[in-house]
Amino acid sequence: MRPSLLDPLFAPITALDGVGPKVAGLIEKVVATDISDRGARVGDLLFVLPHSVIDRRNRPGIAYAAEGAIVTLELRVDRHQPPPRGNRSVPYRVYAHDDTGEIALTFFHAHAEWLAKALPEGEQVVVSGRMEWFNGRPSMVHPDHIARAGDAEGLPLVEPVYPLTAGLSVKVLRRAVGQGLSRLPQLPEWLDADIARRQSFPTFHDALDRIHHPADPIDLSPDSVAWRRLAYDEFLAGQLSLALVRNRVRRLSGRPLSGDGSIVERVRAALPYRLTGSQETAIAEIHADLAEPERMIRLLQGDVGSGKTVVALLAMARAVEAGGQAALMAPTEILARQHLASLAPLAERAGIRIAILTGREKGRERTDTLKGLADGSIDIVVGTHALFQEPVVYHDLVLAIVDEQHRFGVHQRLAITAKGDAPDMLVMTATPIPRTLVLTAFGDMDVSRLTEKPAGRLPIRTVTLPLERLDELIVRMRDAIRDGQKVYWICPLVEESDEIELMSAEDRFAMLKPAFGGNVGLVHGRMKGAEKDEAMRVFKDGETRILVATTVIEVGVDVPDATIIVIEHAERFGLAQLHQLRGRVGRGSKPSTCVLLYKSPLGQTAKRRLSVMRETENGFVISEEDLKLRGEGELLGTRQSGTPGFQVARIEHHADLLETARDDARQFLAEDPELQSERGAALRLLLYLFGRDEAVRLLRAG
Ligand code: ADP
Ligand code: MG
Repeated sequence: MRPSLLDPLFAPITALDGVGPKVAGLIEKVVATDISDRGARVGDLLFVLPHSVIDRRNRPGIAYAAEGAIVTLELRVDRHQPPPRGNRSVPYRVYAHDDTGEIALTFFHAHAEWLAKALPEGEQVVVSGRMEWFNGRPSMVHPDHIARAGDAEGLPLVEPVYPLTAGLSVKVLRRAVGQGLSRLPQLPEWLDADIARRQSFPTFHDALDRIHHPADPIDLSPDSVAWRRLAYDEFLAGQLSLALVRNRVRRLSGRPLSGDGSIVERVRAALPYRLTGSQETAIAEIHADLAEPERMIRLLQGDVGSGKTVVALLAMARAVEAGGQAALMAPTEILARQHLASLAPLAERAGIRIAILTGREKGRERTDTLKGLADGSIDIVVGTHALFQEPVVYHDLVLAIVDEQHRFGVHQRLAITAKGDAPDMLVMTATPIPRTLVLTAFGDMDVSRLTEKPAGRLPIRTVTLPLERLDELIVRMRDAIRDGQKVYWICPLVEESDEIELMSAEDRFAMLKPAFGGNVGLVHGRMKGAEKDEAMRVFKDGETRILVATTVIEVGVDVPDATIIVIEHAERFGLAQLHQLRGRVGRGSKPSTCVLLYKSPLGQTAKRRLSVMRETENGFVISEEDLKLRGEGELLGTRQSGTPGFQVARIEHHADLLETARDDARQFLAEDPELQSERGAALRLLLYLFGRDEAVRLLRAG
C-alpha cells in the first residue's frame, strides 16, 4: 500500500548507525510529532528542526578573539606537552600560533596518539571552538572541530543546534539526522508549479538540506524559503487529508431532515431559561442545514459555559421529529453521564426517549440499549467512543454530534459516519480557536459561534497566589465553605519523568482532609468509572464541598453552584487549559473566584500567562495571546512546542500559506479526486511523509 520508495524513511531509527535502543529512546523525546503509538522512524528525524546555529564564521586571530566567543582559528602547531606520567589531572596541551599570538589547545584525559595525528607538529591546522583566556593567556579547551588546513573545506562554519534532552549529545543527534537525510530518496515534486515559483520554494529535498546544513543563520528562520516550503508541505498534507474526508463525507449525500416543530417546541417549553441570541442563531443555522439535502458538517464553537449542550439538544430534537435517531459523543465518561443527567429531564418532557452507552454499561442494561438503538425505540443516545464501535447498530442514525471535538481525530469522525446512512454531523468545541486554527484543525467547515454568555453571569475574579501562602488560602477556604460555597481544587498530573516534584491530587487530598474532614472529595483519572461518578455526584449534591481533582474535570463538567476554583501549579498549565479550567466556575448567579496557585519563581512566559488570565475572561483574546506566547518559542517540557498538531509549520509565521494550501488542495481534488494523476501520486507520498496516510486509505475505500 505504501509506496516502497518511502521504505527507508519508515524504518525504525535503530536502523541507523550509532542508534541503539537507549539513544533511540532519547531521540524519541525530541521528535516533533506524536509517536506515542509507535517508535520513532527515520523519517521523523527529518522534521527535528534546529532551533539555532553555532556560527563559526568569526575568524579574528588569536589576539583579537574575545573571551567566551566561538571562533575559528588557522594555526601552526608548535609543540605537544603531554601531562607528567601518572598524573591524569593535568591536561595535555598543544601549543600553536598565528600571526597575532600563541594559544594553548587543552585536552583532558587525552588520547596522545589521536592528538599526534590530528595536530602534527609543524603542520597548518584549522580549529574551531570556544575561546578562553586563562590567566591572561589564550586557550581553547577541547576544540569542537580540528582539521588540517587542506581539509578545512568540510568544516561546518554554521552548525545547526537541535533541541536536546538530557543524556543525548549534540553529536549523536546531528549524526542521526544526517543519516536520516541521506536516506531520503529522490521524490517527485508534488507542489503546484505556479505556487512553487511564486513563493520561490526550493525542492523538498533542498529545503531539508538547507535547514539541516545551514549556510547562514537566516536559513533557520521560520521565514526562510526553506522553512516556508516545509510548512507549506505540511499544511498541504493536512488540508488535502481534510478535503479528502470532506469529499468522502459529502459524496454520501444526506437527506433533508425537517419536522413539524412539535418536539423542538416541547423542548423549548421545558427550558428553565431563555436562549441567548447566539444560541438562537446557531439553532436556526443548524436547522436550516438539516433541512438541506446536502449533508451538514458544521462546527459549533463556543466558550466554556456558553451553553452548547442545549443547542445540541435542539438539533437532536429536530432529527427525532424527522423520524431519525441522534447520537451525542463526549470525550469522557464523566461528561457523557453529565450530559445524560442534564438532558434526560428535558428530553422526557418532550417525549424523546434517551439512553446512555459507554464502555461501562454491561450486561442487561447494555443489551437493552443496543436493542433499542437497533430497533429505533431509542431516539437519542449519549456516550463515549463506545457509540461508534463494532457491535452498535443504529436503526436510522441521521445526526451525529461530537462534543469537544479537538480530542478526536479524523478516523473517529469517519467511524461515526459509517454508522448511519450519511448522517449529518455537528462538532462542538469549547476551545476558542482563532480562525486560522479552525482551518488547520477542521478544514473547511461551516462554523456557528456562541459569542455571548447566558444572561446573569457574573465576572470571575482571578487572583494569583504563591504556594508559600497556602496557609492563608486554607483559612479563606474554610470561611467560604462555612458560607455554603463549593470549591474545585485542581492538581496537575504527576509525570514520573518530570524532575520537578509536583503535588499530586492524592497528596493534596490527604493534606486537606484533616482541615476539612468529610467535606473533601477526590476524583482523578485512575479511579474506576463508578468511583468517579460517585465523587462527582456527592460534590454536585453538596455532600462534599471541596473536590480535589486532576484535569479529568477539565472538559465540560457542569456544577453551577461551584464558585471557587483553585488551580495548583498554575504555572505548569497552558493558557487554553487554564481558561477551560476556570470556566468550571462562574456558571451560576453568585460571584466566583479563580485562584491561580503558583510555585515561584515564575519564568517569563508563565508570568505573562498568569497575567493574561487576570486581565481577561474572553476566550478569543486568550487564544490569540496563547498563540503569541507559543510563537515566542517557549519550551514545554522537553519538546519544543510548535503549533499544536504540526511538526514544522508555525501558524504565527506561516498563516498566509494556509489558505493557499487549502485552495490548492480543494482545486486539485476537484480535478483528480482519487489522486490518480502524476501529481496525485506525488501528493500521496506527501501524505505519508506527514503522517496523513489515513486519508490515503479513504481513496481505496472510495
Ligand atoms: P458548554 O458550552 O460549556 O458546554 P453548557 O452547555 O454545559 O456549556 O452550559 C453551561 C450552563 O449554562 C448549564 O448549566 C446550562 O444549563 C446553562 N445554560 C445554557 N444556556 C443557558 C441560557 N440561555 N441561559 C441560562 N443558562 C443557560
Ligand atoms: Mg460542554
